[in-house]
Amino acid sequence: MIKAKKSLGQNFLVDTNVLEKIVNVIQIKEKNILEIGPGTGALTSYILKKKPKKLIVVEKDKNLAQKLYQNFKEEVTVINKDILEIDENSLIKEKFTVFGNLPYNISTEILSKWIVNLKDGFWFDYLVLMFQKEVANRIISDFNTSTYGRLSILVNWKLKVVKVCDIKPFSFFPKPKVDSSLLLFTPKNKIFKIHNPKNLEKVTRVFFSHRRKMLRKPFNQLFNGDQRILDRLKINLNLRPQNLDFETYYQLTREYENLRS
Ligand code: SAM
Repeated sequence: MIKAKKSLGQNFLVDTNVLEKIVNVIQIKEKNILEIGPGTGALTSYILKKKPKKLIVVEKDKNLAQKLYQNFKEEVTVINKDILEIDENSLIKEKFTVFGNLPYNISTEILSKWIVNLKDGFWFDYLVLMFQKEVANRIISDFNTSTYGRLSILVNWKLKVVKVCDIKPFSFFPKPKVDSSLLLFTPKNKIFKIHNPKNLEKVTRVFFSHRRKMLRKPFNQLFNGDQRILDRLKINLNLRPQNLDFETYYQLTREYENLRS
């Protein structure tokens, strides 16, 4: 019997209906699949049944990685590493479809890293990822909502995202305290040009540091009250950070970059 490690966010999927549902979200047959945090290999087995071209799994837990290797042998390439330390761009030359019931303590860090690190083009065609429901709702939220913020703005910059379904705690062992949601991400065709994603992170960090306050203070902090920018982007400083749409944050980032170039 495997003892789940809380520090590694180990809540293993045990619900066969959910496992079946996940592998039917998109085509797996003949595709290169990357699975993040395979744990005991439940989802891995369901992926294999769909006959992928190649399946690579990344598992940080050494004991679990060893068991996966013993169970799946050459059917699966097991990488015993921290996903945050892997350069995904170097894994394989063809595109991946990514699956992951992510460790919830680092799920947003993983997703943000993938977006920020994208170089020329995408190394994946789809991401099918499980998040804590509250985090998933933040990722998919639109402007003018209380959950809109830095995460949705960063994700929406490069990816389209839809919620596939919500999943209850009893589908896992041990049962988590929170509900979960499965999200499907696909790369966008047209991406707003920002030179350095760190600038988008900086701009949204400053604007959302006081989400209930008006835009005046963060705007002045970043742009020294520049009226031309306000006119160009048609921003009303009496609004709140959540009232500016995605595009406006990308344009603000470009203005910020122009000021520094
Ligand atoms: N996919 C399995 C399932 O659905 O039953 C397990 C999912 S569990 C929520 C998260 C898995 O990610 C665990 O197996 C854990 O050991 C692994 N993990 C945690 N942190 C990791 C990291 N930084 N890099 C790679 N794997 C990690």
